[in-house]
Amino acid sequence: MNFLDEPAAISDFLRSLHGVSAVAVDTEFMWQHTYRPIPALLQFSSGGRTALIDATRLEDAEALRILLEDRDTLKILHSCEQDLLVFHMLCGGRISPVFDTQVAHAFSGGPLQASYAKLAAELLGLTIEKDEQNSDWLRRPLTDKQLAYAANDVLHLEAAQASLVQRLKASGRAAWFKEESRRFDTADIYNTDKPEDTWLKLSFAPFLTRKDLPLARELCAWRESTAVKVDLRPRRLLTDDQIGDIVRHKPATLQALAQTPEIHEKVMKRHGAEILAVLDAAAKLPLDNLPPLPISDRLDKTMKDKFDAFAKDLDAAALEVKLDPSLLASRGRLRAAMAAWLAGQPYVEPQGWRAEILMPVYQRHLPK
Ligand SMILES: [Zn+2]
Repeated sequence: MNFLDEPAAISDFLRSLHGVSAVAVDTEFMWQHTYRPIPALLQFSSGGRTALIDATRLEDAEALRILLEDRDTLKILHSCEQDLLVFHMLCGGRISPVFDTQVAHAFSGGPLQASYAKLAAELLGLTIEKDEQNSDWLRRPLTDKQLAYAANDVLHLEAAQASLVQRLKASGRAAWFKEESRRFDTADIYNTDKPEDTWLKLSFAPFLTRKDLPLARELCAWRESTAVKVDLRPRRLLTDDQIGDIVRHKPATLQALAQTPEIHEKVMKRHGAEILAVLDAAAKLPLDNLPPLPISDRLDKTMKDKFDAFAKDLDAAALEVKLDPSLLASRGRLRAAMAAWLAGQPYVEPQGWRAEILMPVYQRHLPK
């Protein structure tokens, strides 16, 4: 195993991988306060050649992009979405084609979010330590333990992939898996949340009044787009609770806004006036055409029974095809569909391989 932190050596190694048929890939990054992850380490392994690359010393981004975008080189990753984002940040490329071992495992009948350690144990009989996962990947030098851990993350991926290909064949789900993997080629992996939709994730969203909904929605949209601009996690600007408090009290002055529990001094100074302007504009928005409220976890009895029957039917459909129900549709997705249906609005229908299994369930519970 090589640790590479010289730009020229990094470039040479990446270019030496150009044209290989498959490469196992992983990244380590730090992601605490910033909007986007900070890349720290890139791991590659292909046919017995393994290297750990110091991401902060990468200069030849083009060498990375060529490797990751080469349609003839399969990129094997485990639970790849954050890694795809990190690579995209580093070289602007879109990794393709991707074989995600976590997704493949789910399509061969496993639970949706099995860890890499679980796969290594189940498929290869290996024990992998997980205790460095949250260590400081930006420290230099990295400890031997960190390096060993990081290398382990790619060392067994090719073998795991080979074993999963067999399982997929045996389960007859290879075509569905292939279709699902195309998701990684599309743009929305690289897009951040749509600012205007982030209010839907507020725990109190189901209970917003018609008058408060536009305030919450606009405030959340402001928080998200400002977080992107200043590269901070959205909750470092305003927590959900603070948004709830502001929406309830509707402050009209900086003084009133400063009464919001634990609102940060810096946020008041830098963004206080902006927040008031957002509230003022939101209060003037027309109240027709409001989006439906999401359905709460705490539904009233009739609604709860309706939803439970819908979810139960989905579980039965999943069981029949031997797949984890959440791979078919998350509870959140079911809730969103049902909320739209209850509000008399069109809901998002399942697409592709999912439609086959799910449309009958949707039609039974959400008839047109
Ligand atoms: Zn890793």
